[in-house]
Formats: sequence, C-alpha cells, structure tokens
Amino acid sequence: MKRLRNRIIYFTMVAFSVVTVLIIIYAFRHRDADDLVYLIFNSYALLAVILAFLFVLYWQRVRRKRLISEQKRLRHLVGNLTAPAMLWDDDLTLAALNDALCRVAELDPKALPPAEQLVPRLFGMERIDDAAIRDIVLTKNHEYVFPVGEDRQRSIIWNTSAVHTDEEGVTYFLSIGVDLENIRLMESELRSYSKRLAASENRNMLTMELTDVGILLIELKSRKLFPSEKLQRMIGLSGEHWTPEDLRSRVYPMDLALFDRHVQIIRSHVADYMNKTQVLELRVSGADNRYRWYSYRFKALQLADGGGIVIGGSVIDISKEKEKDAQIEQIAYEDAVTAIPNRNKLMMMGQELYLCTRDLAVSYWVIVMDIDRFHLINDTCGYASGNELLRSFADCLKQELTEGGFGARISGDNFALILRDTGDEKLPETVIRHIQKKLAAQAVGKFENRSLTCSAGYARMPQDGSSFEQVMEHAEFALSTGKYASGSITGYTEEMHDTIIRESNLEKELRAALERNELLLYYQPKIALESGAVTGLEALVRWRKADGTMVPPEEFIPVAERTPLIMQITRFVIREACRQAKEWQKKGLPEIVMSVNMSGMDFYQDNVCNVVAGALKKNTLPPRFLEIELTESLALKDIDLTVSRMKQLRILGVQIAMDDFGTGYSSLSYLRSLPFTMLKLDRSFVMHMADDLVVQEIVSAVVRIAKAKGIRTIAEGVETPEQAQQLRLLGCDYVQGFLYGKPMSAEDTEAFIRRNRTERKVY
Ligand code: C2E
Ligand code: MG
Ligand code: MG
Repeated sequence: MKRLRNRIIYFTMVAFSVVTVLIIIYAFRHRDADDLVYLIFNSYALLAVILAFLFVLYWQRVRRKRLISEQKRLRHLVGNLTAPAMLWDDDLTLAALNDALCRVAELDPKALPPAEQLVPRLFGMERIDDAAIRDIVLTKNHEYVFPVGEDRQRSIIWNTSAVHTDEEGVTYFLSIGVDLENIRLMESELRSYSKRLAASENRNMLTMELTDVGILLIELKSRKLFPSEKLQRMIGLSGEHWTPEDLRSRVYPMDLALFDRHVQIIRSHVADYMNKTQVLELRVSGADNRYRWYSYRFKALQLADGGGIVIGGSVIDISKEKEKDAQIEQIAYEDAVTAIPNRNKLMMMGQELYLCTRDLAVSYWVIVMDIDRFHLINDTCGYASGNELLRSFADCLKQELTEGGFGARISGDNFALILRDTGDEKLPETVIRHIQKKLAAQAVGKFENRSLTCSAGYARMPQDGSSFEQVMEHAEFALSTGKYASGSITGYTEEMHDTIIRESNLEKELRAALERNELLLYYQPKIALESGAVTGLEALVRWRKADGTMVPPEEFIPVAERTPLIMQITRFVIREACRQAKEWQKKGLPEIVMSVNMSGMDFYQDNVCNVVAGALKKNTLPPRFLEIELTESLALKDIDLTVSRMKQLRILGVQIAMDDFGTGYSSLSYLRSLPFTMLKLDRSFVMHMADDLVVQEIVSAVVRIAKAKGIRTIAEGVETPEQAQQLRLLGCDYVQGFLYGKPMSAEDTEAFIRRNRTERKVY
C-alpha cells in the first residue's frame, strides 16, 4: 500500500512539473495568446481530476485491505478457539467456523461445501431456513441437538454475542458452543476422582495423595480451616488454622457472593456435598498481594474415627489457565466497543448471582437501560461518535457500581446494571437519575449538543422471576412499556406478568401467521367532500386465522410494535398496497392515492426509504399515489430525525399524512416544522363536534391554519350526514368513515369504487 501511495505522490509531482513546463514553453512561444489563462486552468483542472480519481482508487484499496484484514483477524480468532464456534455477519450469513465444530459435526475442514449446502447440513435442514437459524443462533442458552452422520446426535448449547462492527457497519456475531458431550466426559472423570478420594477416608492419606498441591480441610464442628504448608505459602497467610473470616478477607470483592454462598451451604446443607465432588473457582489475594485464580476441588467426608464431618480438597493455582483463556474470554465475554462484559457474561454471572440470592437471602436490582434516540447520534454524527457515546455510557455505569454488582452491554444501545439491594426501594431510580444526569452533561459540547437521555426498566431478583433470565426479561419488559416517553423509568410489577405471557403467545402466533400468509389488507375509502368521489384508500391490515376468525389490528399491532415483527408487517403492507394500487390502475379505475400506516419502529429504520422505493419500483407505481400515515406521537419522540426522515420520503415523491391529529400533545407547530401533505383529524373531534362549540372552533382553526400552509385536511370516523355537512362548512377537504364505507376486502373495495363512478352522495 505504501508503495502505491509513494507512486501516486511521485506521479503527482512529475505530472505537475511536466504540465507546468509545457505551459511555460507554450507561454513563451505564444506570448500574446488569448487562451493562455484557459489553457492553464484546463490543464490543471484535468490533472486535478486524474489525481482525485487515483486517490479515490487508492482509498478504496486501503479500505478493502483493512476490511479483509479485520475479517482475517476474526477468522483467526475463531479458528483458535478450542470450543465449537461460528462467526456470522448481521444477515446471519456464516462467515467462518472452526476445526472444533468440524470435529463435532464430522466435517472435513479442508473440504467444506459451499455455504448454501454447509449451513443446512450443519443444522440438519433441507435448505437454509433463516428463521430457524436465527432461533438457534440468537436465542440465549439455546440447547440444540446437532445431527451427526446419519443417525447420531450431539447436544450443543450456543451462546452468541456481537463481537465486532466493521467500518461498513456490518456487525459480526460469534456463537460459541458448549458441547454437552464434553461435560458428560468431565462428569465421569469427576466421579472416578471422587471414588479415589472416598477410598482414602482419613486425613493422612488425603494429604499424601495431594502433596504437590495445596490442601484445605475444614472442620465443621470447630469452624476451623486447616491449610497445608504449601497452601499457606501460596496464599501468604500463615497459621496452622484459619477462620472462615481470615480467608474471606482475601477474596476478590466480585467473588464474595459466591464464597459466602458456599460457606452457607457448608454450614446448613453439608449433606449436599457428601457424595459429589465440587469445584469452586475464586480469585484470592496471593502471597504477592495480587489476586490469583484458585480452584478448590473438594467434597465432604465422614471421618472414620467418629471425628465428625470434614470438608477436604485440593487447591490449585489456575491463574495460568485463566490467562490462557483470557483472549477467548475477551472476545466471547467482553464487549468489543466498551470493554465491559457482554450479554453472555451477564447471563453467566447473573445466573450465579441468582443462586447466591436464593441461598444467602440477599437480593439484587437488575436494571436494563436503553439510550434514547441513539440511532440519531449514529446517523448524524457517525459511528465513531456513536461508539464514543457507548463508551461514555459504560463509564457512567462503572461509576455506579457497588460491591458485588456489575454492568454489561447487552446489545446495541442496551445496557444492564446489577446492584446489591440495600433495602432502599428508591435505589434503582436514584441510580438511574444519576446516570441520566451524567449523560445529559456529556451532550454539552460533544454530540452536537443533542439532548441525551436514557430510559430504564428494572426488576428485583430473586423476587421478580424464577431464574435470572426471567428477571432480565421482566426488567426488559418494564423498559419496553415505558419506552414511549424518553427518560422513562419503569419498575416491574406483578400485573405485568400476565401481559407478558399473553403477548409472548400472541407474538409466536403472529410470527407463524406471517409465514402462513394469514395477513391481508382491507381498504377504507377516502371521499372528497365537494364531489363525493373516492380519492383515496387507507390500507388497514387484518389477520385472518386459519379458522376464519379476524383479529383486529389493535390486538396485534401494539404487540408487534414491541418486536421487529412490525417491520415485517409494514414491509408486507407497503408491498401489497402498492401492488393492489397498480392492479386497479391497470384495470382503468380512477386514480386513487393509497395510504399505509407506519409505526415508529419502522419509521426509524435506516432502510425505510429503500423499502418504500423498492415497492414503488417493483410495481411501477408513481410515488404520488402512495401516502404514508404517521402519528404525531412519533414526531414528538424525535423531532430532528423525524424531519430528516420525512424529507427523505418527500424527496422520493410520496405523500405524508399526520394521522390521529388531536389525540396526543397536538401542537400546531408541527405543521410548521414537519413536511406533512395531509392532516387527519382524529375521530374524537368529529364525535364531539355537533354539541361542543369549542371543538368546532378548534376544527375550524386547524383547517384554516393547515390550508394556509398548503396542507389538505381529512376527518376520520364520519358516521352521520350531519357530521359530513358540518365538516364541509368548516372547510375540510376529505372525509373517511362508516357513513361512506367501512374497511372492506379488495374485491368489495373494487366494486365500491366502480359504483362510486355513477352513484355519489354529497351531503
Ligand atoms: P387508524 O390509522 O386511525 O385507522 C382508522 C381506524 O378507524 C380503522 O380501524 C377504521 O376501521 C376505524 N374507523 C374508520 N372509520 C370509522 C368510523 O366511522 N367509526 C369508527 N368507530 N371507526 C372508524 P382499524 O382498521 O381497526 O385500525 C385501527 C388502527 O390500527 C389504525 O388506526 C392504525 O393505527 C392501526 N393499523 C391498522 N393497519 C395498520 C398497518 O398496516 N400498520 C400499522 N402500523 N398500523 C395499522
Ligand atoms: Mg391511519
Ligand atoms: Mg387514524
């Protein structure tokens, strides 16, 4: 690369010199030439264009090389892992897999088939099934039965986390598999070890067997710990016997909960340890006052001489092994951007902590947080600023940590914080407010002074769930219920549980419904008040279940809006609405504007304009025949991004309506700042217009102001001729409501439009 760059610089210098010399010669020969200035200008301009072209070429090569070397690094890391591992990009295309996985799947790593055959073969599918792969790979702690050869199976648990986002914005996911076969082998090894240990049921023999490692015996009756000399040297703690407190004072603060839990079990349920060898891995301050990892492999023994129960076992320094695993740990368990634990680590530590809470009667707060409008920073200030913000957020989390707690980045702009419950019910709220304050302060000067805040949901463990995973889900659910307002803080309540169950069932059903094509569109006509002609149709989604029952959108859209399912639904609605509009145009029906509804989640997707443009192009539908209905709550959420997104849509040529105007914190100022082309007065206005003069005044003022801005108005929910007449008097342009037509199937809509050509009612 350097050589290429030097060549370009060399070429630049030579080319400039040559051009300059040629111009000087020309100037001497034609002293009074009129076009000398033009010649100079043109020559340098041409040269500049050639150079710019060369630099672009060079820059592209540099970028490509960087990307390739980044991918190589990731592949290398995956290859070095001893556990089965796969690397995916964010389209869930398999980018690499390692030898360990090939061994498990009985594949030859040197002769791997192409991805289209490899992936189905790996997962025992007929062909690539994206949804199933997503399920296997992205579901946390998913146990997956792996087909091996013709008739055998291996069980693997996959843990997946995002490990890297490259300059192109492609995120790579690393899935690390725990082969349950290995765990079974380990178990049998442990069993044979414990048999040997059981055979040597007295202190001397035990000591002899394990002379090369530290020994620790715990006498239950006296609560005394007897360390071997070697162990005293290892830990740097002398004395023939220690108290549990002596040892505890040396334990790493993050491992204290685990230590206490084992002490508690030894005290109250030692029987649990009688027949099984246990392994406890802890960081303890060593002789050099540095924390080192020690593994204590122990079991409880009944001494033969009637001397009561002792716990005995070996202590080995496993710091080296831990160090060896550090790189693997780092990519598997550490978030690459913020260098704090990632979701995998959070789940692992959370599960351990959950067990501790049960045994020790302590509790923890589990807080999940989401930076509001994070995409805005990414979109407008660039990835580098986005990453900087994530790192700042991680720093804020670290500052709030207390003993035994920890923070993690779960995904994107999602973070979790685990805090010891001190009995103060207000603790989560206080801590979150702290973080919000610090975040707001970050915005000043940095991040273009955009106001920054975060929303949070929290739950308590063990009270709020039967596992750590469930507590997390509950905290995440609390977050999602409060997410409409930025800066919201929502605690999980029992009542939320039923909603979660109901919604998760509905979500599953809806996912299947999408696959089975059970969604369809109904259309409701929009009528011009003056002429009574159909000028538009609103496409309204319906779910027709296999048994024929129709589910209204109000029942499933809000649930879908909490998940990425809404984007699939919207994509379907836009494509189908454009297809249908074009079909009717081809059949020679009058020109009609087709409206579709869009949710906040769709609207903020980066690719929303591509989806719209794609649907228009595929159906060759001119953009002016498509209208997108957005609610004002959406504009409220993020005014800057809303404006820029709407402008992009307007540039495409589609129309935009403000739906349900008047239901939220309506503000006429939106009409000034947002490029709407239509304003839809909500049904509530129409309902109260007849008997409420104030409502009439409001409608009249809104219509007037909209008109002055060149925005047309439509009233929704018109049910009586009186309402239509009144709206006409107030200057409203269009109406939509049961008075004219309910939402109906495509077939009925077509018949309605045909009838409307000849029979029109004008009120
Ligand atoms: P919306 O966009 O405000 O749609 C108008 C709703 O008002 C429709 O209900 C329609 O049937 C109902 N409506 C129309 N005229 C009258 C009337 O004269 N009287 C009464 N009482 N009701 C009337 P629908 O189809 O149940 O849709 C409800 C909401 O569901 C929609 O409200 C919209 O917010 C959402 N929705 C529907 N389809 C979609 C979709 O494809 N995508 C998204 N994101 N949301 C959708
Ligand atoms: Mg609508
Ligand atoms: Mg509406």
